[in-house]
Amino acid sequence: TLDVQSNCTFESLMIGQKTLEKLKSGQFDRPSPVQAKAIPVGLLGRDMLVQAKSGTGKTLVFSVLAVENLDLKAHYIQKVIITPTREISTQIKETVRKLTPAGARTSVYTGGIGHKLNVIDLKKTRPQIVIGTPGRVAQLIRMGAMDISHVDFFVLDEADKLMDEVFKPDINTIINSLPPIRQVAVFSATYPRNLDLLLSTFLRDAALVRFNQDDVQLVGIKQYVVPNAHPMLETLTRLLKSIRYVQALVFCDQISKCEPIATHLKSEGLDSTHVSSGMSQKDRQLAVDQLRAKRVKILVSSDLTARGIDADNVNLVVNVDAAANEETYFHRIGRAARFGAHGAAITLLEDEKVLKGFTALAYRGRVTVKRVGDVDSIPAD
Ligand code: ADP
Ligand code: MG
Repeated sequence: TLDVQSNCTFESLMIGQKTLEKLKSGQFDRPSPVQAKAIPVGLLGRDMLVQAKSGTGKTLVFSVLAVENLDLKAHYIQKVIITPTREISTQIKETVRKLTPAGARTSVYTGGIGHKLNVIDLKKTRPQIVIGTPGRVAQLIRMGAMDISHVDFFVLDEADKLMDEVFKPDINTIINSLPPIRQVAVFSATYPRNLDLLLSTFLRDAALVRFNQDDVQLVGIKQYVVPNAHPMLETLTRLLKSIRYVQALVFCDQISKCEPIATHLKSEGLDSTHVSSGMSQKDRQLAVDQLRAKRVKILVSSDLTARGIDADNVNLVVNVDAAANEETYFHRIGRAARFGAHGAAITLLEDEKVLKGFTALAYRGRVTVKRVGDVDSIPAD
């Protein structure tokens, strides 16, 4: 977890007075390191790629940039923010809303509700800032319902995820509908190779703002692995009953496992619910909202929904399988290290055979994961 820089202020970042006041009232006292570095670069109008791990405050970087130079008198779309899920879109809207002056209009367009409502909203609200998922935004553009030809600032958030093949045609549609002169800012927690390719196709002379490429160690998170966590459900239950935490996220790689795990935990008297990409958008949002509002203690999630779950009080992540790769692992455990918090990440491996693969993952990711014989050996807090 990164701390805010005590020697840096938002005032020193060339941010306009109105936004500075909004930051104050939004309880953002000092910039995080990524904000201190990236906001001034963005305010100069340069294209940029910002890579910093989860929970470092990337949302505020592009939210500040989006509200600066917003023309409140103009009725056309000026800023577009694309992100992979509906949940993240909603979270971004909340941050943007904290910074926008009265009269600014921001709309979210994602799947999950009928596109006709979006078309009506576009006509009625005439948003200046649009936040949405690639599929829906591209659809609205193709229909001729959304005009982004006057956009001056375009954001791809969670760009590593947006590199997924399924998003490609939609991202291309969107980018091809932007005017030739615009600022593009790309945000990513990791830096996969194919990101370079993307950058070369539509970023111009981009500034690279990268953090800790050598230091992927997530400071503040204690990491453990328990091989032979068998039977899994029983081990997981024992773990969740024996150690202290505020809220927990349980990750598994199979959508179909989420609900049975949550059901089992509930039957054991543990306050749990689940979210997976197999659920409707409405139910997904509901589950994430429950966690954020502290109405539930444990959320069982599949990997797709892991990204962007921003719940301040989660300080325990439990993996009930070896994550598919380092990126997935970091995305999962990053959830336990939100701004300024300390937490633990515990990986339960049902079969000792996968330990080797997991050890290799930890080695490549340069993380120290302590191996323990059983969950009883993990300190309670
Ligand atoms: P990222 O997108 O990099 O994963 P987020 O933008 O979601 O991280 O920020 C993580 C958390 O930190 C959020 O809850 C956000 O409100 C909080 N945060 C961000 N910047 C600041 C700041 N300057 N001061 C206090 N809290 C902040
Ligand atoms: Mg983010």
